[in-house]
Amino acid sequence: CGIVGYTGHENAKDIIIDGLKKLEYRGYDSAGIALSDNGKITVRKKAGRISNLEEAIKGEKLEGTTGIGHTRWATHGSPTDFNAHPHTSMDGNIAIVHNGIIENYMELREELSSKHGIKFVTETDSEVIAQLISVLYKGNLEDAVFEAVKKMRGAYTFGAISASEPDKMVAYRKDTPLIAGLGKDCNFIASDMTALLKYLDKIYLIENGETVVCTPDKIQILDANKKPVDRDVLKVTWSQ
Ligand code: GLU
Repeated sequence: CGIVGYTGHENAKDIIIDGLKKLEYRGYDSAGIALSDNGKITVRKKAGRISNLEEAIKGEKLEGTTGIGHTRWATHGSPTDFNAHPHTSMDGNIAIVHNGIIENYMELREELSSKHGIKFVTETDSEVIAQLISVLYKGNLEDAVFEAVKKMRGAYTFGAISASEPDKMVAYRKDTPLIAGLGKDCNFIASDMTALLKYLDKIYLIENGETVVCTPDKIQILDANKKPVDRDVLKVTWSQ
């Protein structure tokens, strides 16, 4: 349903939760965040309102200057804490948030289980994205994303982070909206620009089939052939 991602030099948690709250108007049944810190990914997720998530992590010291967050509108798997996004890979290296539906997720689950011994822990279609990227990961997140999207069918805009590359966030757009936002010494992704208006006024509109690679100082958009796309920056002239 809603995606927000941040990579910069500040604590990502508060910025992402604030962004998710701006997307509440779209409706959702659960919310969660994944933060990359010191070669490790930490996930916190909860069914119910974002305030439930905030309550659950109150007083916890959640570090990390790169992270992704999600508000879920369940399509596959009931709205439980476990089925909430982000989803992580079995090896803990990859976390993803996903909007849409992976139509061939059953086939992919079976293949990943039988060929790679992957054990799935949720009932969602989305978990397959994290597991697939981790199996294809050879040290570069966007390369693994490019390989993974070749195998998936359906509507799948997603954001991904890897514990091995703590300052990077990669997002892919397929059929549901995605923007990348240019901040000061930080960059963002979101499914809806209302999530980011407080933080920036320059965005890129991402098109279907494009991949965005964000680090704190750079946003790179790649087309389906991995060629850099020269997209005009859009200046957002209204704020809330
Ligand atoms: N199909 C996914 C799920 O049920 C994503 C739903 C959404 O877009 O929020 O978890």
